[in-house]
Amino acid sequence: MIVAKFGGSSLADAPRFRQVRDILAADPERRYVVLSAPGKRFDDDVKITDLLLLAHQDVANGGNPESRFDAIRKRYEEISEGLGVPGCVCSEMDAVFQAIQGGASRDFAASRGEYLCGLLFSRWLSLPFLDAAEAVRFHEDGRLDDLTTGELLHEALLRHPTAVLPGFYGADSQGAIHVFSRGGSDVSGALAAAAADADLYENWTDVTGFRSADPRIVPDASYISFLTYRELRELSYMGATVLHEEAVFPVRRAGIPTSIRNTRDPLHPGTIIQSSNRYQAKVPAVTGIAGKPGFSVIVIEKARMNDEVGFGRKVLSILEELRISFEHLPTGIDALCAMVPTRSLEGVREQVLARIEDAVHPDHVSVQDGIALVACVGAGLFKQHGTIARLFTAVSEQGIVIRTMFQAPSELSIIIGVNEADLSPAVRSIYDAFIRN
Ligand code: ASP
Repeated sequence: MIVAKFGGSSLADAPRFRQVRDILAADPERRYVVLSAPGKRFDDDVKITDLLLLAHQDVANGGNPESRFDAIRKRYEEISEGLGVPGCVCSEMDAVFQAIQGGASRDFAASRGEYLCGLLFSRWLSLPFLDAAEAVRFHEDGRLDDLTTGELLHEALLRHPTAVLPGFYGADSQGAIHVFSRGGSDVSGALAAAAADADLYENWTDVTGFRSADPRIVPDASYISFLTYRELRELSYMGATVLHEEAVFPVRRAGIPTSIRNTRDPLHPGTIIQSSNRYQAKVPAVTGIAGKPGFSVIVIEKARMNDEVGFGRKVLSILEELRISFEHLPTGIDALCAMVPTRSLEGVREQVLARIEDAVHPDHVSVQDGIALVACVGAGLFKQHGTIARLFTAVSEQGIVIRTMFQAPSELSIIIGVNEADLSPAVRSIYDAFIRN
């Protein structure tokens, strides 16, 4: 059995609703459907969720939300008319507008796009509607209560052989609505897949899966067919965004594979993400390459630092007190470096240096800016002879200086630090060396 989640771009208008219906009809195993709110039909379009948030903002500022309501009404009416069920969510939509007008919470307003979309879809196809407010439980402080959610969703799904669940929201035990962060219908879908003990979680979107490099850097970057959850974590941490980060955990824990599919190209197999790559015929050395600019390195040098007990703790306590989180911590015998996002130094740069001076009396301490990190991720990276040599050769042949490097302890990735201006050439050179055929 499959839980299929469809994103906002797959539900932007009536023709796309029909594509979703056809995808569901093509495989009877697709029994549970999780839906986002209608998204953009074209580049300058506004998502329903954004219109709802703007309406809420209008009310909070003492303004008039009518023009937003009109735009929302028009979108839902166009969709329902196009599907031959005109006015099918009119009364619920009016109730939503009244509640927002009456000062309902921001989360309530944000969630109504999914709620109305789920209702519309279920009425159009005569499928049972399962309100996420009854099955996805949040704590009152807005964190997900995953244990209760697992139980509630499991019971609710068992009651229906097939159902439509709106994504993105749930409610606390007092009935107050809470939402996940933006894009959170992915999380709802993953929770439903885990609760239903699905064989597969399908995440239908407007791209054909994960690309092996950012297409803004490598325009013809290939699609990744297989990815492990651990590789995915490394790539998304470095900025590859197709799936909400939190959507990985429920399915990964339950051992359920996730498949990323394109609603507009439903025959393309997309990317399949699994816990293990043991079924893969050939594990490539590098599965994907991701890069991120905007890093600085705090370099602290002191002769015989290695003998000084507590040196690292003192430095890390200073970073902690100044609320700077470090990303990597390369060390040498007489040096310790902390790789941090440059923006985390805003307003505290001088203070960090002065406090480190004071606490550990280094021979030298400085900050170097303008570093980009490039991660080469692949479960096969350390299994094949000569891979690392090939990687460094590819980069240095382009005249790129590698300013720092580290191997993740998981043996899943090698990260190199280069000057920001070298980010794109570095990604391209690694792509050409390992992925381009
Ligand atoms: N509709 C929400 C958003 O625009 C949630 C989602 O689409 O997953 O972020």
